[in-house]
Amino acid sequence: MLVRNVLLRLAANASMERFVRSSRIAARARDRFITGEEIESVIEPVRALNGAKIRATIDHLGESVASKEVVDATVDIYIRLLEIIKNEHLDSNVSIKLTAFGMDIDEDLCYRNVAKLLDHAGPDQFVRIDMESSAYTDATLELFYRLWNEGKYRNTGVVIQAYLYRSAKDIEDLINLGARVRLCKGAYKEPSDIAFPEKKEVDANYVALMKRLLESGNYPAIATHDPNMIEAARTYCKDHSINEDRFEFQLLYGIRRDLQLALAAEGFNVRIYMPFGQHWYPYYMRRLAERPANIWFVLSNVFK
Ligand SMILES: Cc1cc2nc3c(=O)[nH]c(=O)nc-3n(C[C@H](O)[C@H](O)[C@H](O)COP(=O)(O)OP(=O)(O)OC[C@H]3O[C@@H](n4cnc5c(N)ncnc54)[C@H](O)[C@@H]3O)c2cc1C
Repeated sequence: MLVRNVLLRLAANASMERFVRSSRIAARARDRFITGEEIESVIEPVRALNGAKIRATIDHLGESVASKEVVDATVDIYIRLLEIIKNEHLDSNVSIKLTAFGMDIDEDLCYRNVAKLLDHAGPDQFVRIDMESSAYTDATLELFYRLWNEGKYRNTGVVIQAYLYRSAKDIEDLINLGARVRLCKGAYKEPSDIAFPEKKEVDANYVALMKRLLESGNYPAIATHDPNMIEAARTYCKDHSINEDRFEFQLLYGIRRDLQLALAAEGFNVRIYMPFGQHWYPYYMRRLAERPANIWFVLSNVFK
Protein backbone atom coordinates (compact mmCIF):
# COMPACT_ATOMS: atom_id res chain seq x y z
CA MET A 1 0.00 0.00 0.00
CA LEU A 2 2.87 2.35 0.88
CA VAL A 3 4.60 1.71 -2.46
CA ARG A 4 1.29 2.23 -4.28
CA ASN A 5 0.75 5.58 -2.54
CA VAL A 6 4.28 6.77 -3.29
CA LEU A 7 4.00 5.80 -6.97
CA LEU A 8 0.59 7.49 -7.31
CA ARG A 9 1.99 10.63 -5.69
CA LEU A 10 4.95 10.59 -8.08
CA ALA A 11 2.53 10.21 -11.02
CA ALA A 12 1.64 13.89 -10.54
CA ASN A 13 5.23 15.10 -10.02
CA ALA A 14 6.60 17.20 -12.91
CA SER A 15 10.32 16.84 -12.02
CA MET A 16 9.98 13.08 -11.77
CA GLU A 17 8.17 13.08 -15.11
CA ARG A 18 11.07 14.96 -16.75
CA PHE A 19 13.55 12.51 -15.23
CA VAL A 20 11.63 9.37 -16.24
CA ARG A 21 10.87 10.64 -19.74
CA SER A 22 14.57 11.23 -20.37
CA SER A 23 15.54 7.78 -19.08
CA ARG A 24 16.26 5.13 -21.73
CA ILE A 25 15.46 2.36 -19.22
CA ALA A 26 11.99 3.75 -18.52
CA ALA A 27 11.42 4.20 -22.26
CA ARG A 28 12.13 0.51 -22.88
CA ALA A 29 9.85 -0.59 -20.01
CA ARG A 30 7.19 1.88 -21.18
CA ASP A 31 6.81 -0.07 -24.42
CA ARG A 32 5.23 -2.89 -22.48
CA PHE A 33 2.26 -0.65 -21.57
CA ILE A 34 1.85 1.65 -24.58
CA THR A 35 2.04 0.96 -28.31
CA GLY A 36 4.29 3.97 -29.02
CA GLU A 37 4.26 7.75 -29.13
CA GLU A 38 2.75 8.23 -32.61
CA ILE A 39 -0.70 7.41 -33.97
CA GLU A 40 0.79 4.96 -36.49
CA SER A 41 2.12 2.80 -33.65
CA VAL A 42 -1.34 1.65 -32.62
CA ILE A 43 -2.69 0.48 -35.99
CA GLU A 44 -0.81 -2.81 -36.48
CA PRO A 45 -1.27 -3.93 -32.83
CA VAL A 46 -5.04 -3.35 -33.18
CA ARG A 47 -5.09 -5.27 -36.46
CA ALA A 48 -3.23 -8.15 -34.77
CA LEU A 49 -5.77 -8.21 -31.93
CA ASN A 50 -8.66 -8.17 -34.39
CA GLY A 51 -7.02 -11.16 -36.10
CA ALA A 52 -7.35 -12.99 -32.77
CA LYS A 53 -11.05 -11.95 -32.56
CA ILE A 54 -10.30 -9.33 -29.92
CA ARG A 55 -11.59 -5.74 -30.13
CA ALA A 56 -9.81 -2.57 -29.11
CA THR A 57 -10.45 0.81 -27.59
CA ILE A 58 -7.75 3.33 -28.52
CA ASP A 59 -6.65 6.03 -26.09
CA HIS A 60 -4.51 9.03 -26.98
CA LEU A 61 -2.55 9.60 -23.77
CA GLY A 62 -3.00 13.03 -22.24
CA GLU A 63 -4.66 14.49 -19.15
CA SER A 64 -4.75 17.64 -17.02
CA VAL A 65 -4.32 19.80 -20.12
CA ALA A 66 -4.27 23.55 -19.39
CA SER A 67 -3.62 24.86 -22.92
CA LYS A 68 -6.45 25.41 -25.40
CA GLU A 69 -4.06 24.72 -28.31
CA VAL A 70 -3.19 21.29 -26.88
CA VAL A 71 -6.89 20.57 -26.32
CA ASP A 72 -7.69 21.51 -29.95
CA ALA A 73 -4.85 19.29 -31.18
CA THR A 74 -6.21 16.41 -29.05
CA VAL A 75 -9.69 16.73 -30.58
CA ASP A 76 -8.10 16.70 -34.06
CA ILE A 77 -6.10 13.57 -33.24
CA TYR A 78 -9.27 11.78 -32.10
CA ILE A 79 -11.14 12.81 -35.24
CA ARG A 80 -8.24 11.43 -37.29
CA LEU A 81 -8.33 8.25 -35.20
CA LEU A 82 -12.03 7.72 -35.92
CA GLU A 83 -11.31 8.14 -39.63
CA ILE A 84 -8.41 5.67 -39.53
CA ILE A 85 -10.57 3.12 -37.66
CA LYS A 86 -13.28 3.46 -40.30
CA ASN A 87 -11.04 3.50 -43.37
CA GLU A 88 -8.83 0.63 -42.16
CA HIS A 89 -11.89 -1.40 -41.07
CA LEU A 90 -10.51 -1.83 -37.55
CA ASP A 91 -12.76 -3.30 -34.87
CA SER A 92 -12.11 -0.55 -32.34
CA ASN A 93 -13.71 2.35 -30.58
CA VAL A 94 -11.94 5.17 -28.70
CA SER A 95 -11.55 6.21 -25.06
CA ILE A 96 -11.12 9.84 -24.01
CA LYS A 97 -10.27 11.74 -20.84
CA LEU A 98 -12.24 14.93 -20.21
CA THR A 99 -9.21 16.76 -18.78
CA ALA A 100 -7.63 16.31 -22.23
CA PHE A 101 -10.78 17.77 -23.84
CA GLY A 102 -10.70 21.02 -21.85
CA MET A 103 -12.41 20.20 -18.55
CA ASP A 104 -9.77 22.13 -16.55
CA ILE A 105 -10.17 25.20 -18.79
CA ASP A 106 -13.95 25.50 -19.14
CA GLU A 107 -16.73 22.89 -18.81
CA ASP A 108 -18.66 24.31 -21.78
CA LEU A 109 -15.59 24.13 -23.97
CA CYS A 110 -15.14 20.51 -22.90
CA TYR A 111 -18.79 19.75 -23.66
CA ARG A 112 -18.53 21.28 -27.14
CA ASN A 113 -15.36 19.29 -27.86
CA VAL A 114 -16.89 15.98 -26.82
CA ALA A 115 -20.09 16.73 -28.75
CA LYS A 116 -17.97 17.55 -31.82
CA LEU A 117 -16.23 14.18 -31.54
CA LEU A 118 -19.54 12.35 -31.09
CA ASP A 119 -20.92 14.12 -34.17
CA HIS A 120 -17.94 12.84 -36.14
CA ALA A 121 -18.37 9.37 -34.68
CA GLY A 122 -22.01 9.15 -35.75
CA PRO A 123 -24.16 6.16 -34.83
CA ASP A 124 -21.60 3.56 -35.97
CA GLN A 125 -18.68 4.57 -33.78
CA PHE A 126 -18.54 4.61 -30.00
CA VAL A 127 -16.66 6.95 -27.64
CA ARG A 128 -15.98 5.89 -24.04
CA ILE A 129 -15.42 8.62 -21.47
CA ASP A 130 -12.80 7.39 -18.98
CA MET A 131 -13.17 8.27 -15.30
CA GLU A 132 -10.36 10.27 -13.68
CA SER A 133 -9.75 11.13 -10.02
CA SER A 134 -12.66 11.96 -7.68
CA ALA A 135 -12.09 15.67 -8.33
CA TYR A 136 -13.79 15.00 -11.69
CA THR A 137 -16.46 12.39 -10.87
CA ASP A 138 -19.35 14.87 -10.61
CA ALA A 139 -18.21 16.94 -13.58
CA THR A 140 -17.74 13.83 -15.74
CA LEU A 141 -21.15 12.38 -14.95
CA GLU A 142 -22.84 15.79 -15.33
CA LEU A 143 -21.29 16.22 -18.77
CA PHE A 144 -22.35 12.69 -19.70
CA TYR A 145 -25.96 13.26 -18.56
CA ARG A 146 -26.03 16.55 -20.44
CA LEU A 147 -24.98 14.76 -23.64
CA TRP A 148 -27.46 11.98 -23.01
CA ASN A 149 -30.32 14.40 -22.41
CA GLU A 150 -29.66 16.02 -25.79
CA GLY A 151 -31.30 12.86 -27.08
CA LYS A 152 -29.02 12.35 -30.06
CA TYR A 153 -25.91 11.07 -28.28
CA ARG A 154 -26.28 7.37 -27.61
CA ASN A 155 -22.83 6.57 -29.02
CA THR A 156 -21.07 7.19 -25.73
CA GLY A 157 -20.67 5.60 -22.31
CA VAL A 158 -18.91 6.22 -19.00
CA VAL A 159 -16.74 4.44 -16.44
CA ILE A 160 -17.61 3.72 -12.82
CA GLN A 161 -14.97 2.94 -10.18
CA ALA A 162 -15.82 0.27 -7.60
CA TYR A 163 -13.58 1.86 -4.94
CA LEU A 164 -15.93 4.86 -4.53
CA TYR A 165 -18.76 4.56 -1.96
CA ARG A 166 -21.08 6.52 -4.27
CA SER A 167 -20.79 4.05 -7.15
CA ALA A 168 -23.75 1.81 -6.24
CA LYS A 169 -26.09 4.80 -6.66
CA ASP A 170 -24.37 5.92 -9.89
CA ILE A 171 -24.71 2.40 -11.32
CA GLU A 172 -28.47 2.37 -10.59
CA ASP A 173 -28.90 5.78 -12.27
CA LEU A 174 -26.98 4.62 -15.35
CA ILE A 175 -28.88 1.32 -15.53
CA ASN A 176 -32.16 3.27 -15.43
CA LEU A 177 -30.96 5.39 -18.36
CA GLY A 178 -29.86 2.38 -20.37
CA ALA A 179 -26.36 3.83 -20.66
CA ARG A 180 -23.29 1.73 -21.33
CA VAL A 181 -20.96 1.42 -18.31
CA ARG A 182 -17.38 0.19 -17.98
CA LEU A 183 -16.77 -1.04 -14.44
CA CYS A 184 -13.22 -0.85 -13.07
CA LYS A 185 -11.76 -0.88 -9.56
CA GLY A 186 -10.28 2.64 -9.79
CA ALA A 187 -6.69 3.74 -10.37
CA TYR A 188 -6.20 6.96 -8.36
CA LYS A 189 -5.22 7.77 -4.80
CA GLU A 190 -8.46 8.57 -2.95
CA PRO A 191 -9.14 9.39 0.72
CA SER A 192 -11.01 6.91 2.93
CA ASP A 193 -13.98 9.25 3.47
CA ILE A 194 -14.99 8.68 -0.17
CA ALA A 195 -13.34 5.40 -1.15
CA PHE A 196 -12.94 1.92 0.35
CA PRO A 197 -9.43 1.80 1.81
CA GLU A 198 -9.05 -2.00 1.78
CA LYS A 199 -8.57 -4.08 -1.36
CA LYS A 200 -10.95 -6.77 -0.11
CA GLU A 201 -13.71 -4.14 0.29
CA VAL A 202 -13.07 -2.81 -3.22
CA ASP A 203 -13.20 -6.36 -4.58
CA ALA A 204 -16.49 -7.10 -2.76
CA ASN A 205 -18.04 -3.89 -4.11
CA TYR A 206 -16.74 -4.70 -7.59
CA VAL A 207 -18.50 -8.07 -7.53
CA ALA A 208 -21.77 -6.52 -6.23
CA LEU A 209 -21.79 -3.78 -8.90
CA MET A 210 -20.76 -6.23 -11.61
CA LYS A 211 -23.72 -8.47 -10.80
CA ARG A 212 -26.13 -5.52 -11.07
CA LEU A 213 -24.67 -4.59 -14.46
CA LEU A 214 -24.68 -8.15 -15.78
CA GLU A 215 -28.29 -8.56 -14.72
CA SER A 216 -29.72 -5.22 -15.82
CA GLY A 217 -27.05 -3.15 -17.61
CA ASN A 218 -26.74 -2.28 -21.28
CA TYR A 219 -23.78 -4.27 -22.65
CA PRO A 220 -21.52 -3.55 -19.63
CA ALA A 221 -17.74 -3.75 -19.84
CA ILE A 222 -16.12 -5.75 -17.04
CA ALA A 223 -12.68 -4.13 -16.93
CA THR A 224 -10.24 -6.09 -14.78
CA HIS A 225 -7.25 -8.44 -14.84
CA ASP A 226 -8.26 -9.99 -11.56
CA PRO A 227 -8.93 -13.73 -12.00
CA ASN A 228 -11.30 -13.67 -8.98
CA MET A 229 -13.49 -10.97 -10.57
CA ILE A 230 -13.48 -12.81 -13.90
CA GLU A 231 -14.41 -16.09 -12.23
CA ALA A 232 -17.23 -14.34 -10.32
CA ALA A 233 -18.59 -12.96 -13.62
CA ARG A 234 -18.38 -16.35 -15.28
CA THR A 235 -20.19 -18.09 -12.41
CA TYR A 236 -22.90 -15.41 -12.12
CA CYS A 237 -23.64 -15.58 -15.85
CA LYS A 238 -23.81 -19.37 -15.78
CA ASP A 239 -26.12 -19.44 -12.71
CA HIS A 240 -28.41 -16.74 -14.15
CA SER A 241 -28.42 -17.86 -17.79
CA ILE A 242 -26.83 -14.60 -18.95
CA ASN A 243 -25.49 -15.08 -22.44
CA GLU A 244 -21.90 -14.04 -23.13
CA ASP A 245 -22.96 -11.69 -25.93
CA ARG A 246 -24.59 -9.40 -23.31
CA PHE A 247 -21.28 -8.02 -21.98
CA GLU A 248 -17.56 -7.80 -22.67
CA PHE A 249 -14.36 -8.19 -20.69
CA GLN A 250 -11.84 -5.37 -21.02
CA LEU A 251 -8.13 -5.51 -20.20
CA LEU A 252 -5.17 -3.19 -20.65
CA TYR A 253 -2.55 -3.52 -23.39
CA GLY A 254 0.50 -5.39 -22.12
CA ILE A 255 -1.18 -6.90 -19.05
CA ARG A 256 -2.13 -10.60 -18.81
CA ARG A 257 -1.95 -11.27 -22.54
CA ASP A 258 -2.40 -14.97 -21.73
CA LEU A 259 -5.73 -14.19 -20.07
CA GLN A 260 -6.80 -11.93 -22.96
CA LEU A 261 -6.29 -14.76 -25.47
CA ALA A 262 -7.82 -17.42 -23.19
CA LEU A 263 -11.03 -15.41 -22.66
CA ALA A 264 -11.38 -14.78 -26.40
CA ALA A 265 -10.75 -18.47 -27.14
CA GLU A 266 -13.53 -19.37 -24.68
CA GLY A 267 -15.92 -17.28 -26.75
CA PHE A 268 -16.20 -14.18 -24.56
CA ASN A 269 -16.22 -10.70 -26.09
CA VAL A 270 -12.86 -9.14 -25.20
CA ARG A 271 -11.68 -5.58 -25.77
CA ILE A 272 -8.18 -4.26 -25.07
CA TYR A 273 -7.44 -0.67 -24.05
CA MET A 274 -4.64 0.50 -26.38
CA PRO A 275 -2.85 3.69 -25.28
CA PHE A 276 -0.43 5.66 -27.45
CA GLY A 277 1.03 9.14 -27.28
CA GLN A 278 3.83 11.24 -25.88
CA HIS A 279 2.23 12.05 -22.53
CA TRP A 280 2.61 8.50 -21.23
CA TYR A 281 4.16 9.18 -17.80
CA PRO A 282 1.06 9.36 -15.48
CA TYR A 283 -0.53 6.32 -17.16
CA TYR A 284 2.74 4.40 -16.84
CA MET A 285 3.09 5.28 -13.14
CA ARG A 286 -0.48 4.15 -12.41
CA ARG A 287 0.32 0.76 -13.98
CA LEU A 288 3.41 0.42 -11.78
CA ALA A 289 1.35 1.41 -8.73
CA GLU A 290 -1.19 -1.35 -9.44
CA ARG A 291 1.50 -3.96 -9.35
CA PRO A 292 4.73 -2.87 -7.67
CA ALA A 293 6.24 -6.19 -8.88
CA ASN A 294 6.36 -4.42 -12.27
CA ILE A 295 9.13 -2.22 -10.86
CA TRP A 296 11.34 -5.32 -11.14
CA PHE A 297 10.31 -5.52 -14.77
CA VAL A 298 11.55 -1.93 -15.20
CA LEU A 299 14.78 -2.63 -13.33
CA SER A 300 15.40 -5.81 -15.31
CA ASN A 301 15.67 -3.58 -18.39
CA VAL A 302 18.77 -2.01 -16.86
CA PHE A 303 20.64 -5.21 -17.66
CA LYS A 304 19.35 -5.62 -21.22
C1 LIG B 1 -9.91 -1.62 -19.93
C2 LIG B 1 -9.62 -0.86 -18.67
C3 LIG B 1 -9.99 0.46 -18.56
C4 LIG B 1 -9.77 1.17 -17.39
N1 LIG B 1 -10.24 2.46 -17.26
C5 LIG B 1 -10.11 3.10 -16.09
C6 LIG B 1 -10.71 4.37 -15.87
O1 LIG B 1 -11.35 4.96 -16.74
N2 LIG B 1 -10.54 4.96 -14.65
C7 LIG B 1 -9.84 4.34 -13.64
O2 LIG B 1 -9.75 4.91 -12.54
N3 LIG B 1 -9.25 3.14 -13.84
C8 LIG B 1 -9.37 2.51 -15.02
N4 LIG B 1 -8.80 1.27 -15.18
C9 LIG B 1 -7.82 0.76 -14.18
C10 LIG B 1 -8.50 0.03 -13.05
O3 LIG B 1 -9.23 0.93 -12.26
C11 LIG B 1 -7.47 -0.70 -12.16
O4 LIG B 1 -6.59 0.24 -11.61
C12 LIG B 1 -6.65 -1.75 -12.88
O5 LIG B 1 -7.39 -2.44 -13.84
C13 LIG B 1 -6.11 -2.77 -11.87
O6 LIG B 1 -7.16 -3.42 -11.24
P1 LIG B 1 -7.59 -4.95 -11.52
O7 LIG B 1 -9.07 -5.00 -11.62
O8 LIG B 1 -6.89 -5.42 -12.73
O9 LIG B 1 -7.23 -5.73 -10.22
P2 LIG B 1 -5.98 -5.69 -9.13
O10 LIG B 1 -6.65 -6.08 -7.87
O11 LIG B 1 -5.25 -4.42 -9.24
O12 LIG B 1 -5.11 -6.83 -9.70
C14 LIG B 1 -5.51 -8.18 -9.81
C15 LIG B 1 -4.48 -8.98 -10.57
O13 LIG B 1 -4.39 -8.47 -11.92
C16 LIG B 1 -3.03 -8.46 -12.37
N5 LIG B 1 -2.63 -7.05 -12.61
C17 LIG B 1 -3.33 -5.95 -12.28
N6 LIG B 1 -2.68 -4.82 -12.65
C18 LIG B 1 -1.53 -5.23 -13.22
C19 LIG B 1 -0.44 -4.54 -13.81
N7 LIG B 1 -0.37 -3.21 -13.86
N8 LIG B 1 0.57 -5.30 -14.30
C20 LIG B 1 0.52 -6.66 -14.26
N9 LIG B 1 -0.49 -7.35 -13.70
C21 LIG B 1 -1.50 -6.66 -13.20
C22 LIG B 1 -2.24 -9.11 -11.27
O14 LIG B 1 -2.20 -10.49 -11.53
C23 LIG B 1 -3.06 -8.83 -10.03
O15 LIG B 1 -2.82 -9.73 -9.01
C24 LIG B 1 -9.07 0.54 -16.32
C25 LIG B 1 -8.71 -0.80 -16.41
C26 LIG B 1 -8.99 -1.51 -17.55
C27 LIG B 1 -8.63 -2.97 -17.61
